[in-house]
Amino acid sequence: MTVDGCRRVGLIGWPVEHSLSPVMHNAAFQALGLGWRYELLSVPPGQLGAALADLNAGDFGGANVTVPHKSAVMAYLDEIDAAARSIGAVNTISVQGNRLLGHNTDAPGFVSALCEAGLELSGRRALLLGAGGAARAVAYALAQAGCAVAIHNRTAMRAAGLVHHMQDLGLCAPVTRMPGETALDELDLARFDLLVNATAAGMWPHDDGSPWPEALSLPSHWTVFDLVYNPLETRLLRQARRAGARTIDGLGMLVWQGVLAFELWTGQEPPADLMRSAALKVLAIRR
Ligand code: NAP
Repeated sequence: MTVDGCRRVGLIGWPVEHSLSPVMHNAAFQALGLGWRYELLSVPPGQLGAALADLNAGDFGGANVTVPHKSAVMAYLDEIDAAARSIGAVNTISVQGNRLLGHNTDAPGFVSALCEAGLELSGRRALLLGAGGAARAVAYALAQAGCAVAIHNRTAMRAAGLVHHMQDLGLCAPVTRMPGETALDELDLARFDLLVNATAAGMWPHDDGSPWPEALSLPSHWTVFDLVYNPLETRLLRQARRAGARTIDGLGMLVWQGVLAFELWTGQEPPADLMRSAALKVLAIRR
């Protein structure tokens, strides 16, 4: 720690420039009168080991980890909590003494966002789009909450890999095996009631994209949750609204995964509403 008690927190990723985490966390550090600051650490693949060594040697209180390092970073940590190990991805590192501890706040952040939206998870039948780091956290959270989960991904092999991973975890009972090769328009959509987009489709600067085919209408009884938060109103959410489905955007999850990370680093509860409005302000400017 520096003499003035100021500690740093960094976002390790590649690229990191468009992250909303610095504004959210710096607003919270300031509101609580903590002399901490959150900064972007642009770490290309191949330089992860050096970045982690810096984290351990410097005045860092912790870090967030994003694409493409969420799985690779696990090899450099002294300890990984049970949930992050099961998910196979770390998005938050806390520093305790000279030890680096790995956590995953995406999974509980996702659940908190659904709770905040008043959605009861138990017994839901979810169709999850994606098989990357965020999808792994969401699949784990949904299965733990007692949902049946079917996984669909652009690259079918990755979807099959995630289904096998869930089965290896003993979460096979709630997971409905779905052949990754099945096109979305061949599915019996009536058997689902929750659609979660954990792909990057629709994310800025490709915001005219959607993981859902325009010609296939979404059932009106569905709730559609899009993890993408930039833009807040994605093309997928517009498709869902047009179909009469309920929609939830990705901002709540972003805020709650951040709140949980903040607590791990500082031991203090941050003002979630302030973090949300700080992120919203930046999104409004970028629009
Ligand atoms: P990732 O590990 O790189 O995975 C990307 C996923 O998106 C893969 O399944 C990939 O499919 C799929 N994909 C990418 N472009 C696509 C396209 N044009 N059409 C269909 N599928 C496409 O990234 P991630 O960390 O999982 O993040 C995924 C999304 O979740 C991002 O938009 C990220 O911003 C968002 N996210 C939001 C929060 C939040 O707090 N709201 C938290 C974490 C992540 P392939 O396997 O075929 O490549």
